[in-house]
Amino acid sequence: MKMHIGGQWVDKSEKIEVLHPFDGSVVDTIPRGDAADVELALATAERGAKVMASLTGYERYEILHKAAHLMEERNEDLARTITLEEGKIIAEGRIEASRAVEIIALSAEEAKRLGGEVVPLDGAPGAAGKFGFTLRVPCGVIVGISPFNFPLHLVCHKIGPALAAGNAIILKPATDTPLSALKLVEIFLEAGTPPEALQCLTGSGSVIGDALCADSRVRKITFTGSRDIGEHICRTAGLKRVTMELGSNAPLIVMPDADPERVAQAAAASGYSNAGQVCISTQRVVTHEKIHGDFLDAFKATVENITTGDPLAEATKMGPMIREDDAVRVDQWVEEAVSGGAELVLGGGREGQMYQPTIVSNVSPEMKISCDEVFGPVVGVTPVSNIDEAIALANDTNYGLSAAIFTQNIDWAMRFVQEVESGNLHVNWGTQWRADLMPYGGLKESGMGKEGPKYAVEEMTETKMAVFHMGG
Ligand code: NAP
Repeated sequence: MKMHIGGQWVDKSEKIEVLHPFDGSVVDTIPRGDAADVELALATAERGAKVMASLTGYERYEILHKAAHLMEERNEDLARTITLEEGKIIAEGRIEASRAVEIIALSAEEAKRLGGEVVPLDGAPGAAGKFGFTLRVPCGVIVGISPFNFPLHLVCHKIGPALAAGNAIILKPATDTPLSALKLVEIFLEAGTPPEALQCLTGSGSVIGDALCADSRVRKITFTGSRDIGEHICRTAGLKRVTMELGSNAPLIVMPDADPERVAQAAAASGYSNAGQVCISTQRVVTHEKIHGDFLDAFKATVENITTGDPLAEATKMGPMIREDDAVRVDQWVEEAVSGGAELVLGGGREGQMYQPTIVSNVSPEMKISCDEVFGPVVGVTPVSNIDEAIALANDTNYGLSAAIFTQNIDWAMRFVQEVESGNLHVNWGTQWRADLMPYGGLKESGMGKEGPKYAVEEMTETKMAVFHMGG
């Protein structure tokens, strides 16, 4: 495919191959963007921002509404594209494509709701005769940078709110998975988006990222990806707004009054979908010692049924990891844990990019599979003797994106909600659950700012305060 910059589709002689993670076949190629392309995109986006700001809320709604409709019509093609470039099973590709429609439909509604508020200035001393109100205005030029693991869904969480709020956006998709984003841009242009307002620049983030993020024409960066790249972007960005959606090593606490079967189902669904490559994957299960054995038996029996293989085959339950390097890294971390005294309960084998669904028990907090982000199909289990220890262990991390507890005890559930340092908290389900309308984002080093169209629109607009000094 070509990239979309300068208001048109652009090709380059230098190409990057997009590979299917299952068999390494070439799905397509994309242009390798460079510094000159960044400059063209930035200059174009400045014009695009002016065009967008001149549209009414209803006109922006109409574009987004039509785009959602076209996405729905092309759902199966989008789902297959996701699976081909990312490697997740086709059932998950279809869920992602459907959720993407929902995000754009939600964003369309937000386009009609950009309002300010009357500020009661007469409540201030000496402010008689003053009348004030706020206006919400677009930031202008936004840069959206997205990761490989949800190549359509997370791109929609950036493009939808950016356009709804009247901005121009330059998207830099992950180099491993740029095709879903490019197909989405085709759809948005067909739906009537001004071509200067929506650009998709392909190429290596390490080469073009700094030029994009440092430029003062960019007023807002919305980034989803790893902690280290996020920190680098914050340093490069200087004085501009940033939203950071970063990594995690999500904990799931299992108290003794939980139903082991139900927890096993939730932990398996939360731990192994997309081969564990989800920012809110359950990575650390913290079990009360009274339920530890029953839970492990039920969990092992459930995870044993996760069949691996070709992600396009309907019967497959888990596909490959994105790159062989990552599968090798996960394998090394599991070996490190086992040689340090942890017990391999299930899995632990690798064939190329395919890593078996793996359970490791008696994991200690200092092991990499506990304290770092695994981002692979590995769940570690650690027994504790009470709720205090469970909460302390859940919080013993620099991350804080999602956490969960299984219990029927309202006091334990309430303590979990109040004391666990996490942006998303789930009682009686796993850590991997999200409705696209909710405010979603991490605490601590999992990031800052919230996504979800209503909340992202707030972060992609500025507030202006107007004061009328009445009566001469
Ligand atoms: P990544 O390596 O951090 O890459 C993310 C994006 O940043 C890619 O588009 C990448 O481009 C780009 N990039 C790389 N270097 C850059 C630079 N110097 N300046 C600007 N951009 C740069 O992450 P990933 O491996 O794709 O995704 C996995 C990570 O994302 C995990 O840590 C996961 O937890 C996190 N994630 C978080 C959320 C959330 O909502 N909190 C959701 C999904 C994923 P290239 O591809 O060209 O290198």
